[in-house]
Amino acid sequence: MRSFTARDPRTGVHDWRGQALDPAEVLEVAARLRAAQQGWEARGGASRLEVLRAFAQALRRHAEPIGAALETDTGRRRIARLEIDSVVGSIEAWARVIAADAPPEWIQGRGLPSVRHTAAWKAYALVGVVSPWNFPLLLGMIDAVPALLAGCAVLVKPSEVTPRFIAPVMAAVAEVPELAAVFAFVPGDGITGQAVVDLADCVCFTGSVATGRKVAVQAAGRLIPAYLELGGKDPLIVLEGADLDAATDAALRGSVLSTGQACQSIERIYVARPIHDAFLARLVEKAQAARLNWPDITVGEIGPIIFDRQVDILSAQIADARQRGARVLTGGEIETHGGGLWLRPTVIAEVTPDMAVMRDETFGPLLPVMAFDTVEEAVALANDGEYGLSAAVFAAALDEAEAVGRRLEAGAISLNDAALTSIFYEAAKQGFKCSGLGPSRMGEDGYRRFLRRQALIANTARPLPLAAFSEEGST
Ligand code: NAD
Repeated sequence: MRSFTARDPRTGVHDWRGQALDPAEVLEVAARLRAAQQGWEARGGASRLEVLRAFAQALRRHAEPIGAALETDTGRRRIARLEIDSVVGSIEAWARVIAADAPPEWIQGRGLPSVRHTAAWKAYALVGVVSPWNFPLLLGMIDAVPALLAGCAVLVKPSEVTPRFIAPVMAAVAEVPELAAVFAFVPGDGITGQAVVDLADCVCFTGSVATGRKVAVQAAGRLIPAYLELGGKDPLIVLEGADLDAATDAALRGSVLSTGQACQSIERIYVARPIHDAFLARLVEKAQAARLNWPDITVGEIGPIIFDRQVDILSAQIADARQRGARVLTGGEIETHGGGLWLRPTVIAEVTPDMAVMRDETFGPLLPVMAFDTVEEAVALANDGEYGLSAAVFAAALDEAEAVGRRLEAGAISLNDAALTSIFYEAAKQGFKCSGLGPSRMGEDGYRRFLRRQALIANTARPLPLAAFSEEGST
């Protein structure tokens, strides 16, 4: 075991120490889970759902210590509690998706009517989940719940940046022994994550593009599927005629919720030139009104920066923009309070497409705003870049927003709102370009991807003898 520390983002103090599991220790856990998986799959979907429901109750019973740990991990209170609610709610949501799934029927062959076939679905024995620090519990569980319901055993390796919640969640898991047999969180770092990828039959990775590439290469070497949910640089297009009050509300919430530490944050805003100045003035006013949740965690909308190294990226993007002639209208300076690091919503005007703030993932509360002259230009700017996670369009009418949205190269398009995937989980979607790989994690595919399809092919007539394929008589 290697020891590692975690930093409290509100105080800056590394006041937690734990052990990262080494590959040999991960192997022990994986072997234990794998051994119990067949029994888990055999008990059937209805019984697995009951076990997951018992886990939801255990999470509720342990909500206080889990919430407190998440609060310390992330420096925010309401979202920490929402993470627990979201996981509990997801179990019933998946139950509805699975219930809507019709059982496979026997289908008569078209070429050979005497042969019929049907499907059976076989779970991957062990699913490995590797997750990031921005929503530690939610993103640790988002793929685990459908995988468990599908009949897989699941091993989750959360981020080393936010490890405090693991112990209280595992206390809740321990109260449901049927689940504890097939499900575990293992603390650790990238080495632990690599060990998980080495041992799993299927990997779900949520994190950066750089690490996602490594996971994809490792998984390819083992010929196992890797479902990747990676970074984004989501654009918002505001067309002439859009309701400026609504558009600025959505732009601000979409950009700075969770201090912008969300994959689906709006990170660049393109506004039709005739309304650009009015939009900017209103956005600045609203951005200035946003408050830090310091010193009182029950006040304000902007939490601390969770991962201190993120500050380097934010500062570098702001400095690059300034140096190239952009104007920083709000925020713009990293603030230290009580040892923690904060950044207020930072509206940046007169940006150009070549600036780092318009090209590279930010993962913080920056709102660069740029004017466009034609819809063609706006679409081209929005589609220019390596990411394609999600995007948003605001217009006077929904069908106008829809027409532009359909032209964008991204997996989820919010119309007359922004970053809707952070509050609406039902829509199936995939990450485009570098933002992801694999089927949707939502909807029916989000469950099916943990099952391999097996064909059962039955002959209702006599089997053909070899003589039926004899060369004799062939022309
Ligand atoms: P990261 O890539 O640095 O780390 C993610 C996880 O991978 C961590 O648990 C880490 O320990 C582990 N890891 C590191 N090296 C590894 C390796 N070689 N093999 C296996 N695992 C390894 O990402 P992060 O900084 O924790 O998270 C922020 C990133 O996550 C941002 O880019 C953000 O956009 C992305 N993200 C994407 C989504 C989505 O759904 N698309 C959601 C949230 C965050």
